[in-house]
Amino acid sequence: MSEFAVREEGDATDWTQPGVFRVADNVYRIPLPLPNDGLRAVNVYAIVDDGGLTMIDSGWALAESEQRLGRAIGALGFGFGDIRRFLVTHVHRDHYTQAVTIRRKFGNEVALGIGEKESLIAAGTPRALRGFEGLRSVGADPLIELFRNMDRPPPEPSDMWEMPDEWIEGRSDIKLVSRSLTAIPTPGHTAGHLVFRDDANVLTFTGDHVLPHITPSIGFEAVPVKLPLADYLGSLKLVRGMPDTAMLPAHGPARESVHARVDELLEHHDHRLDLSLAAVEKGASTAYEAAGLIGWTRREKKLLDLDPFNQMLAVFETSAHLNVLVLQGRLTSSKVDGVWRYSS
Ligand SMILES: [Zn+2]
Repeated sequence: MSEFAVREEGDATDWTQPGVFRVADNVYRIPLPLPNDGLRAVNVYAIVDDGGLTMIDSGWALAESEQRLGRAIGALGFGFGDIRRFLVTHVHRDHYTQAVTIRRKFGNEVALGIGEKESLIAAGTPRALRGFEGLRSVGADPLIELFRNMDRPPPEPSDMWEMPDEWIEGRSDIKLVSRSLTAIPTPGHTAGHLVFRDDANVLTFTGDHVLPHITPSIGFEAVPVKLPLADYLGSLKLVRGMPDTAMLPAHGPARESVHARVDELLEHHDHRLDLSLAAVEKGASTAYEAAGLIGWTRREKKLLDLDPFNQMLAVFETSAHLNVLVLQGRLTSSKVDGVWRYSS
């Protein structure tokens, strides 16, 4: 097997291309594989820090991913034992789980935002025990039927959802040996999502909070949050209010400006809010019905043309938009027989 050579970020033909790409002094982007996932790959970042490594995110616990990460840090002259700490942006499987499996062998430290604690506990609970109340409350009974009739996947191995060594609470300074980062809580995509800023080097590791090509899913969590989109928009504005930096996202290539992308995301959500409002004005009364009147993906697909998992994401996202419209006083809502209903 050939070894990876360290290349410049600009040399990547495609952001998912395996390898190790220098994005700033002593900072390297390492794309890792995902199983059958629309996101295609997840970036982890290696910060070389006085003879050791700090990692931002860890990848999805998979043999192929671990092997690729090993080759990448090998190209930098390090082994897994040199990773002092994984700073994980959020609890989703593609970011968190490999930190746990590598820690078992090498004893590295793992840090995660305190806001992820409930989701981490829930993630270790078999899905069957969690039920369908969430889907029921957004009026998605047809989706519940679809899921009930689907071939059940084998029970998820839940043993990788171990606790981190350290919970990061609130905005915190994270001291490395030769530099320091600031962890900034950015709830929205998940309740405990963090971005990590390196002000001295004008970088932000944005995790899934700010992504270059897509908008992160909102409102889809093991433990539902009351107003995830309001949280998300607040977190976008928080980041917009700080000095601009380069953007190092978890999915997609590095970009020059966090602000430029945040502006696009804010505009996108304004547009989706308008579409959601129009759907209720046209007669939709639940999030499920409203999602059925809105186009999905860049190709404006119909809800029912999405696969069941993406239908579910679309309905939760619509629910999140409708609840922001209620917060803004543009719609009213009430819960009737366990289902949220909206009117203009
Ligand atoms: Zn992700």
